[in-house]
Amino acid sequence: MHDFAYLDETTFLRAGRADAPFGIAGLCWDGSTSNRPGARFGPRAIRQASHMLCDGIHPHFDCSPRAVLKDLGDLLLPNTGLEPMRAALAQQLPALLAARHMVWLGGDHSVTLPILRALHAQQGRPLAVIHFDAHCDTWTEHFGEPSGHGTWVYEAMQEGLVVNACFTQIGIRSAGERAAREYVRDQGGLIFTARELRGLDNSTELAPLTAAIRERLQAHGQPPVYLSLDIDCLDPAFAPGTGTPEPAGLSTAQVMTLLEDLSDLDFVGMDCVEVSPPYDHAELTSYAAASFVWTYLAGRQARVSSSRLRP
Ligand code: MN
Ligand code: MN
Repeated sequence: MHDFAYLDETTFLRAGRADAPFGIAGLCWDGSTSNRPGARFGPRAIRQASHMLCDGIHPHFDCSPRAVLKDLGDLLLPNTGLEPMRAALAQQLPALLAARHMVWLGGDHSVTLPILRALHAQQGRPLAVIHFDAHCDTWTEHFGEPSGHGTWVYEAMQEGLVVNACFTQIGIRSAGERAAREYVRDQGGLIFTARELRGLDNSTELAPLTAAIRERLQAHGQPPVYLSLDIDCLDPAFAPGTGTPEPAGLSTAQVMTLLEDLSDLDFVGMDCVEVSPPYDHAELTSYAAASFVWTYLAGRQARVSSSRLRP
């Protein structure tokens, strides 16, 4: 397999502690993008944006993930078709997941399905998922192909990788037929559309959402939680650098409030996908993505140090 010119030398938060319990890695693949390509360049842009965070001490959690993080660089993946990419990724995942609590920088959203498969195997039980996105990603096929960046939710439910009742979608608003738009709700999960969240910014206003997620987790035996954050959940005003922008979306502050307020959940991993730097302006999108990943990591670190739990 050849090395690629866009593989990245910079590191997230300049973090590189060898025995760090948290890891971060780039998945530079965007072959399933249905509109504007470029998410293969996302990891580099997110890492560069993270350097603005300096010492990385988070103002809400009062700790810096730099101390507990190693950036493993970009995984070597064949830049060919979806299945060869997924096969190469699936081969590398078990060892990476066994060694550290991992955060993944996309890449398009098709990378999430093999991660869920590997986490399901590692955890030995179906996962809860918190899914930020403009798109439901529940389509049963990808423009005539069986799988793509808009089918992983459907496939994860079909494969039994997730607890359907603990699958929560936030920010959904794209065009799509009812069967796809409502699929997660029809399977027993939760959907909070962008329309339903208009004007709700702070913790108090968003409390019904966070309470509903907690109730579901409690009622289903507290399954491990995976966070999948498609940057196009944000309004294009906050995140123009993405492949399939959908106007009238979430604000950066709305998503930040939710990440902060849900930081005590039993997360076992996160991805941030669909950042496409060629369409970005003033690095708005990569700064938002870097801040979200930083906030997730700081929240994990704060929780682990306060409860002495394994990350
Ligand atoms: Mn998506
Ligand atoms: Mn999307």
